[in-house]
Formats: sequence, C-alpha cells, structure tokens
Amino acid sequence: MIDNSELNELYQSIIIEHSKRPRNFGHIECSYHTIGKNPSCGDEVNLYIKTDDNKSRIEDIKFNGEGCALSIASASLMTQLVKGKTLIDSKDIINSFINFIVNNETLDEKYKLLHIFDGVKNFPLRVKCVLLSWRALEKFNSQIKCNQKCNQV
Ligand code: ZN
Repeated sequence: MIDNSELNELYQSIIIEHSKRPRNFGHIECSYHTIGKNPSCGDEVNLYIKTDDNKSRIEDIKFNGEGCALSIASASLMTQLVKGKTLIDSKDIINSFINFIVNNETLDEKYKLLHIFDGVKNFPLRVKCVLLSWRALEKFNSQIKCNQKCNQV
C-alpha cells in the first residue's frame, strides 16, 4: 500500500520524465497541422497528424512547440495514446480525459496512466496547460471533414 505522497512523487517523476524526453516529438511532412495556444502562460503546441485515406484512423502523430513541463508531458502522453487509433476511439480518449480533469469523472481503467494529472484538477491555470494538446486534437477531430493537408486547421 502506498500513501498519497508517494503516489504524488511517482506521478511527478513520470511527468518530469515525459517533459524531458517527450515521445512523438517532431514534425510530419505534409500532414494535417493544428495548433494549441495558451496565452496565459505562453504554451504553444503544434500537432501534426497523418491519417489513412478515409480520414478514419490516426496513422501517425507528432508534436512540437514550447511549453511548461505539464503541457509537454501531457502532449507526449496524448500522442502515445491516440497513435494508431481510429478517430472515433481518439474522441473517446479525449472526452474521458477532459471529463476526468474538468468534471472529476472516473477514468476508464484502460486510460489509468492519465491519473498522473490528478493533482492538476484544482489549479485552473494548470488545467489549461494539461488540456492544451487535447483541445487541439479535439478541434482537429471536429473539423476533419474540411481539413486540408499541409495547411493549418
Ligand atoms: Zn503551461
């Protein structure tokens, strides 16, 4: 049995690790591009998304940009979770995470890694950092039909 402070330390260390060595960091040539910006702290995340021809599955996703440890770690984890998923599944992941952070809903077991952001819920400014890349992908998903490759969404 581990107590809450040990759990928080574990969560912190995962967040720091992802912010220092973000997964799927980079750029994809001629992919869909969407940007998330957080004016209050200057975070900016670019998402590059490659779908199959039917625009039904995320074949590859990368991100770059600048931001605090929370926004970078969150984008890193998000890309890991949605890569290879259908857009419908990715919407489910996005909704689950946003409801977990904003509405304090229980996370599905399959997304339990996202619990590392539990401590952010009570800090509205940090919530924006954590949700930055997720909101950007949500925007991309809702506009997928009219998205143009190589252009900004
Ligand atoms: Zn931030």
